[in-house]
Amino acid sequence: MARSAHAIVIGGGIGGLAAAAALHRRGWDVTVLERARTLEPVGAAISLAPNALRALDVLGIGEEIRDLAAWQGDGGLRTPGGRWLSRTSAETAAARFGGPLVLLPRATLVDRLAALLPPGAVRTAAAASLTDPGDGRRPARVSTGADELEAELVVGADGINSRVRSALFPDRPGPVYAGFTTWRVLIPVPGVEFASHETWGRGRIWGTHPLKDGRVYAYAAAMTPAGGRAADDEKAELLRLFGDWHDPVPAVLAAARPEDVLRHDVHHITTPLPAYHCGRVALLGDAAHAMPPTLGQGGNQAVEDAVVLAHHCDDLAAYTAARLPRTTAISRQAVQAARVNMARNPVAVAVRDTVIAALSKAGPGLLLRGFDGIADWRPPYAAGEAIER
Ligand SMILES: Cc1cc2nc3c(=O)[nH]c(=O)nc-3n(C[C@H](O)[C@H](O)[C@H](O)COP(=O)(O)OP(=O)(O)OC[C@H]3O[C@@H](n4cnc5c(N)ncnc54)[C@H](O)[C@@H]3O)c2cc1C
Repeated sequence: MARSAHAIVIGGGIGGLAAAAALHRRGWDVTVLERARTLEPVGAAISLAPNALRALDVLGIGEEIRDLAAWQGDGGLRTPGGRWLSRTSAETAAARFGGPLVLLPRATLVDRLAALLPPGAVRTAAAASLTDPGDGRRPARVSTGADELEAELVVGADGINSRVRSALFPDRPGPVYAGFTTWRVLIPVPGVEFASHETWGRGRIWGTHPLKDGRVYAYAAAMTPAGGRAADDEKAELLRLFGDWHDPVPAVLAAARPEDVLRHDVHHITTPLPAYHCGRVALLGDAAHAMPPTLGQGGNQAVEDAVVLAHHCDDLAAYTAARLPRTTAISRQAVQAARVNMARNPVAVAVRDTVIAALSKAGPGLLLRGFDGIADWRPPYAAGEAIER
């Protein structure tokens, strides 16, 4: 591919920006078309495991993101009453996977990725649609309504409700409701000391984690019909569902204002696509393989996709071959994890908790085992090698 070839990335989320940065490093002239008026991301914070951090190494920003790691010491899995079912430490996790787990504000990640792009590469308020996927003889075409653009490569990074995906694979089923809704807050909680935890109840979970900037990221999930909203406000809903859970949950809720609480239903793609490419178009991130957030891997996989796509930008079939089996397996694992941690039946919950506590006693670091084969991923570049500029 000629070095001045033009790539259009539809969607300026984490996956789209990472892909644009990776392609730019390989010499592509990139344009990112983002529907929203700004790149401001929804969703408070994001956790990046060592796999995504290695992908960010390829873009040259892995180390600065690792510097934002805040989880130190112990953490683990608890019951709503506060009993520890399984404990692990940040050091054990780092030793097992060769690096820390980093939780950072989404806005920070988006800013760092956007800063890798040349001025003018990102066009906001530009909702785009694919008008022709192109082929070996003709370029792909994209319309923004205002103009029609041509490109040697189009990246569909337009998220879970991807229009690029439905243009390429119109007969494939769209995303389905995963059965649970989520809440997220990212706030200061002065004067509260706590260990990083995730707590599993009956059809409900809560997690609280510190960020390097001193704020606290807390998330919660509950099995509930799709589309529900609290009649009063979502903070009140969280108080009803989690107000009597162990410390620091009540303190986090006391510190949160109703407007700090984000609520989103979880949808995912249950039937894998036949390919992540068609003609000159590649899909990545949630557009290709939206998964439940139970492993915290959706965004991590989008970043992996981005650097692998840049590696195989001249051979999109090789991109599909490298990404489809891995992301399908991780999506299935995320669905299975959701069945376990969102279990509602009291007998199933009692068995689950007993088994976890017993296994954890037998071998510490139980929680980490679920990330074997995921967090230890390495990009298709030599160790420490960044894509050439
Ligand atoms: C509660 C929750 C917690 C999560 N926590 C984590 C976590 O800790 N770690 C993790 O790795 N993942 C996590 N995820 C998953 C993660 O948020 C997603 O997998 C990730 O954001 C996907 O990135 P993306 O770039 O593919 O899509 P998106 O982030 O959805 O970005 C798509 C972009 O495309 C734009 N767009 C859409 N249509 C168009 C169009 N027609 N034209 C132009 N632009 C368009 C959108 O405005 C958006 O900016 C979580 C998800 C949820 C719901």
